[in-house]
Amino acid sequence: MSEKLLVIGESRDGILRNVSFEAIAAAKKINPNGEIVGVVCGNEDLENQAQELIYYGANRVITVKHEKLAYYTSEGFGQAISAVIEAENPDAIIMGHTAVGKDLTPKLASKLEVGLISDAVAIDLDGDQVVFTRPIYSGKAFEKKVIKDGLLFATIRPNNITALERDESRSGTVEEQAVEIADLRTVIKDVIRKAADGVDLSEAKVVVAGGRGVKSAEGFQPLYELAEVLGGAVGASRGACDANYCDYSLQIGQTGKVVTPDLYIAVGISGAIQHLAGMSNSKVIVAINKDPEANIFNVADYGIVGDLFEIIPKLTEEIKKLKAE
Ligand SMILES: Cc1cc2nc3c(=O)[nH]c(=O)nc-3n(C[C@H](O)[C@H](O)[C@H](O)COP(=O)(O)OP(=O)(O)OC[C@H]3O[C@@H](n4cnc5c(N)ncnc54)[C@H](O)[C@@H]3O)c2cc1C
Repeated sequence: MSEKLLVIGESRDGILRNVSFEAIAAAKKINPNGEIVGVVCGNEDLENQAQELIYYGANRVITVKHEKLAYYTSEGFGQAISAVIEAENPDAIIMGHTAVGKDLTPKLASKLEVGLISDAVAIDLDGDQVVFTRPIYSGKAFEKKVIKDGLLFATIRPNNITALERDESRSGTVEEQAVEIADLRTVIKDVIRKAADGVDLSEAKVVVAGGRGVKSAEGFQPLYELAEVLGGAVGASRGACDANYCDYSLQIGQTGKVVTPDLYIAVGISGAIQHLAGMSNSKVIVAINKDPEANIFNVADYGIVGDLFEIIPKLTEEIKKLKAE
């Protein structure tokens, strides 16, 4: 039984990403009575982030503040987290399966000479055995994996394991750990984001995705308006990205981002297998397409057959009215 579970928190612009809280819930599933130790690294004031981890269920949080950790690098964060792992000697480590998680955790696992279960979407107990469920073959099947011996190390897919309710009455301790960080071979001077505004696509609860049917970059505007009233993010098919209607950072699918929002609205997307690989595990799928035979309707919970240019503005209007009531 894992007694001490380390949760690696991840922040952006000084704000913890939701998957950090989901990782705490994942640790609780592994052992509801274990000690959950959060860790956050950076060069900003980490006290608030540490408190947030505690409100979401961490018993103790370690902060590592260093000027070389101002931006994520696998070298810098690798050294910092390795030092925490060495000091804490946890029985389990959990992190989000994000771009940072995907980069950092295999390197840590290799250094620790342990296995890693990546991209888990569910965690269950079978007696004392912890069973991780993860999608394979681009989401067409699921496999169940266990680690029979030694450290449990896993990443979890965002939006699949529900975080505990934030509770300010939860208390815990925050400790700062001083870590020596050797000179980094890569130094990031500045980060210029392509999409600075709005909700992060990988973690959005609502995604409005447009395809080649949207027909132009201007055609995406009504999708942005719908996403805004729903508090969601805009995504796209590769067809739309290839046609230059939007940036490749919005691409969802086998060679793009994998998303699992509560609501996925596919607009003018035919539903190619490579697109389904990135969104078919969304909780509710709504498809809007003028072709009643489009494959996207085979995975949709709700389908609207019609012209997206008529339907989307009406939908946005109706949702605005509902919100105003
Ligand atoms: C190796 C490989 C990797 C790939 N990776 C990805 C990936 O990661 N993501 C991805 O998306 N694709 C990927 N693809 C491409 C994929 O095969 C499809 O070509 C692509 O998804 C098609 O995009 P689409 O659905 O937007 O376009 P289309 O297939 O052209 O579909 C457009 C749809 O819009 C509908 N439409 C048109 N006008 C309207 C209207 N006015 N109102 C309503 N509906 C309308 C049409 O009926 C049609 O169904 C990959 C392909 C390969 C070979």
